Amino acid sequence: MMDTLQRFIFENSAVRGELVEISDTWAQVQARRDYPAAVRTLLGEMLAAAALLSANLKFNGMIVMQMHGDGPVKLLVVECDSDLRLRATAKLGHEVEIPDDAGLTQLVNIHGRGRFVITLDPMDKMPGQQPYQGIVPLDGDSVAAVIENYMLRSEQLDTKLWLAADTRVSRGLLLQKLPNEGGLGVAATEDADAWDRTVALASTVRQEELLSTDINTLMRRLFWEETIRIFEPRHPSFHCSCTREKVANMLKMLGKPEVDSALDELGKLSINCDFCGQHYEFDKVDCAQLFAIENTSDAIQQAGTIRH
Ligand SMILES: [Zn+2]
Repeated sequence: MMDTLQRFIFENSAVRGELVEISDTWAQVQARRDYPAAVRTLLGEMLAAAALLSANLKFNGMIVMQMHGDGPVKLLVVECDSDLRLRATAKLGHEVEIPDDAGLTQLVNIHGRGRFVITLDPMDKMPGQQPYQGIVPLDGDSVAAVIENYMLRSEQLDTKLWLAADTRVSRGLLLQKLPNEGGLGVAATEDADAWDRTVALASTVRQEELLSTDINTLMRRLFWEETIRIFEPRHPSFHCSCTREKVANMLKMLGKPEVDSALDELGKLSINCDFCGQHYEFDKVDCAQLFAIENTSDAIQQAGTIRH
């Protein structure tokens, strides 16, 4: 079974939908880290959600979805680019016991200080352009509820999500009311009741059913009375964008004193990518080069400034 995202619309209505199933990509995320069951479920659901939201974006870039937690889980991150290439990771507190049935609130919002952040980072930014970022409280006790609330408040879009994940698959369904362009409302010929009706139909799906049924069967089973137009399916995949150069830049940001003191203590620096587990090593020579290059370019820049 190939990872697949299927977009569709209900004919003559202002409702669009998407179904996604992610197995291979999800297996690759899990192969890199062993997460407690409750954390795995949350991360798997975010993976499906990120692919679903990303497929509706009209820009070339990356969507980054983060939950900053104030409980046993400090951070959950999923990134998805315009080609539906995904990566995901979670950071847990030290030595925490996480019950298998822990819900979202217990994991990331135990004191009500958890935050949900969506960042849209365009690939070809204009000079000085910052990525767009929306930050809201973790409003809801499921990934679906948090995103539905975010979409309504920040984007003014009625969105409904049904998400499920276990060790094998992460699967999701999204319905969205199309934006009411120009404030003209749904034309008289259109099906004004479609939103309530399709949401009611989708709401009959059970969690178990979502985990055990492929998306084509789900679509037929839930919406067999509806006229649906489907688009070309797309295929999510795993991809990590880490490089040695990016790690080197991070070390430069830390600064020479910090890096030197770590080198004195450890002999060399070992850095593992949180997303893919790729291992990067920087010894004393590598680090000296890092800062030597920076000093040279600083010197050139300074010389340039003096000449002016
Ligand atoms: Zn990586």
